[in-house]
Amino acid sequence: MDKILPSYNDPLFSILIITLLVLVVALVSVIMGNYKEEKQTKRLKKFLGKIDINDCTLDIEKLPFDLSLITPLSLLAKTFSIQGEYQKSINIYLYLIENIESFYEKEHLLEGLGETYLKAGFLKRSEEVFLAILNKRARNINALYHLEVVYELLHEYDRAKETLKPLEVMGENIDSLQRYLEFITIVKDKNISREDKVDRFELFIKDSGYLYRDIMRELFRLDLNEAWRLVDDSRADLILDILWFLPLSNLNFDIISSSEILTSIYHAKGVLPNQDEVPICNIFAIDTINFAQKGGSSEVDLSFSYGCSRCKQHFPISFDRCPNCYAINSIQIKETITKKQTQRGYSLL
Ligand SMILES: [Zn+2]
Repeated sequence: MDKILPSYNDPLFSILIITLLVLVVALVSVIMGNYKEEKQTKRLKKFLGKIDINDCTLDIEKLPFDLSLITPLSLLAKTFSIQGEYQKSINIYLYLIENIESFYEKEHLLEGLGETYLKAGFLKRSEEVFLAILNKRARNINALYHLEVVYELLHEYDRAKETLKPLEVMGENIDSLQRYLEFITIVKDKNISREDKVDRFELFIKDSGYLYRDIMRELFRLDLNEAWRLVDDSRADLILDILWFLPLSNLNFDIISSSEILTSIYHAKGVLPNQDEVPICNIFAIDTINFAQKGGSSEVDLSFSYGCSRCKQHFPISFDRCPNCYAINSIQIKETITKKQTQRGYSLL
């Protein structure tokens, strides 16, 4: 045996053994990696198989697949999704995903599919798609952000918070999202007493003033006295629609009369009697109405629409999270002077 194998003391033999060990480890890693990838692909295909493509109206599955189709069809799927044609968009995404082998080549398509499911309200399907993406690439920031929204809409706030940790590790600023989740958790928690909620919201405002509009809306629902006490007239423009539509019985005239801005708003609303000098509040629509009233016109009112500072989309109703891009704290209130209608005084609360 000693004649076949060189001596253990021979350095060349040691190098040979080390080289062999490295080769064996590398080979095992490649085999394990391939096995893992195959397993994940099977899991993804199994999930996609659950979705009945025949429900879709676009007859795309008969189209012979070609690599040159990927870009135009991806764009078409995105366009359908933006236009609200979710079924058509989903159909195209599924067709492309099923025909592309490599995960990395179809990662953006999976993101598109997950986002379209989310917009269409298929929250569980959206969750599965984003989890499938993260299973393959845990550092996909877009998938993590969307998964957080999905959990929020499913009212699974603890799981939503779990998505923040990896985002933070990757250097994302999650402060505003974290505070928003804390806020929404308190709002939805039926085990927290009304008094406790009011105290916590007051702390929120004192801490940073962040989410001022959302907190004031909740406070007006929970405790009118506390809400009025915490009205910051320098930020009245952020809650102008809430103040405008408050029922007469919910107004606190002591606080209104102590503030020039609030006096100006409620004079424009027609709640306060005509005065010789109405203070200027620097909210263009309010000052315009007050000037018009001074000139004898009383048939004017305000209507509101809402924009998103991030995606620039406009919506007829107020939102906490932009319905289009899911941004928080991005609402912009746009007031428009209109002719006064006979129906008046409904509340946003
Ligand atoms: Zn937006």
